[in-house]
Amino acid sequence: VLGGRVRSRVLDGFTLDAGYQVLFPSYPAVGRNLDLDALDLVPIFPSAAVRRGAREDALGDPRRDPAAFLSTLTTDVLGLGDKLRVGRLALELLRGAPHTLLTGPDETTESYLRGQGFSEAALDNFFRPFFGGVFLRRELDTSARLFRYYFRMLIGGGAALPRAGMSAIPGQLAAGLDVQVNVRVTALRAHGSHVTLQTLNGELDARSVIVATDPNTAAGLLGQGVSRGSLGSTYLYYASDQEVDGQPRLLLNAEAGLINNAQWLSNVLPGRVPPGQHLLAVTLLGLHAENDCDLDAEVRGELEAWYGEAAVSGLRTLAAERIPHAQYPQPPGYAATLPGHATGLPGVLLASEVTSMSGIQGAMESGEKAAAILLDDLAALSRPRGG
Ligand SMILES: Cc1cc2nc3c(=O)[nH]c(=O)nc-3n(C[C@H](O)[C@H](O)[C@H](O)COP(=O)(O)OP(=O)(O)OC[C@H]3O[C@@H](n4cnc5c(N)ncnc54)[C@H](O)[C@@H]3O)c2cc1C
Repeated sequence: VLGGRVRSRVLDGFTLDAGYQVLFPSYPAVGRNLDLDALDLVPIFPSAAVRRGAREDALGDPRRDPAAFLSTLTTDVLGLGDKLRVGRLALELLRGAPHTLLTGPDETTESYLRGQGFSEAALDNFFRPFFGGVFLRRELDTSARLFRYYFRMLIGGGAALPRAGMSAIPGQLAAGLDVQVNVRVTALRAHGSHVTLQTLNGELDARSVIVATDPNTAAGLLGQGVSRGSLGSTYLYYASDQEVDGQPRLLLNAEAGLINNAQWLSNVLPGRVPPGQHLLAVTLLGLHAENDCDLDAEVRGELEAWYGEAAVSGLRTLAAERIPHAQYPQPPGYAATLPGHATGLPGVLLASEVTSMSGIQGAMESGEKAAAILLDDLAALSRPRGG
């Protein structure tokens, strides 16, 4: 598939990305490789609406989301001390080059945040659902280095969505290239002088090959233990004829339940839905094995606590989507054991998120590095991880 996990599809006139995903325009590799103007990016509000049952409190960066200012100031979602701590942390993270945040001692995000003095309420009401959505781990057991890097990306440049769908990103990267899709590689043999790929369409010979599949597939093709496990996630998409919630911000579920976060995408990107329609994308962490009907009923039950029974009965379930490998787990210290580009197989290099970090920056910088090895590009090779 062109773009792999970064893809979109059209269903009943609604443009759906795979799951809920966003682009951080301040990723350094994004700046180098994409024409952001041509992507027609729509910014996502640099804020969130914290849901506690029927209660919704906007929380945001007052400089960038003035409408959330009063609510941010007065809400009890974060106490005054925690609000000041967020401001202090933001200032600290903005100092220095972003890649330096990926070095130094590591610990879990949770212990790092506690060390910064954040309260239990701040963890539960904001950090767990928000960074649970980013790292697919509400437990906040992801590397604190990575947390600092991603938080910096968000504070520095926010998040955005290409108006036409996330697939516009790989579409732009592939423009002008000779790309074949739907040709699965089933085996790889390195002969020394060349490499043979066994595909479902027959054999392909090449002088050099870069394996840039998901880590689990790469492990199988290379016969090497480069797999790092998988974090899965599940999404439900709802359509409605009526506006249920005009909130354009990311909705965070501060209470226990299936829903981690949700967003009325039609409030941000009205062009992605048929005229007069509304679209809600709901994120559940983990792969939920129950059948679609049971899952739908459970999620509707939680949405009823937010919007009431009448509003939820008007929602049409468009699709349920399970993504078994959305990211790989990145606990503290994970970076020390990342595989490099060398595979030991002559002419074969490894690229993809697996050599760096599980996200668009990691995938792009890994591709750049593998290409730099083949092209002998020392400037690109000397760039640090995250730079
Ligand atoms: C729901 C979701 C939300 C996300 N949100 C974000 C986000 O907000 N920000 C962010 O930075 N990252 C996000 N990510 C992570 C990001 O999408 C991935 O880290 C990134 O796409 C990894 O790129 P990749 O090229 O390494 O792998 P992939 O995107 O998985 O691409 C691998 C490619 O290899 C192909 N392939 C696999 N097996 C074979 C084979 N045998 N033969 C031939 N081709 C094969 C696949 O078809 C695919 O095209 C999200 C991911 C998901 C799923």
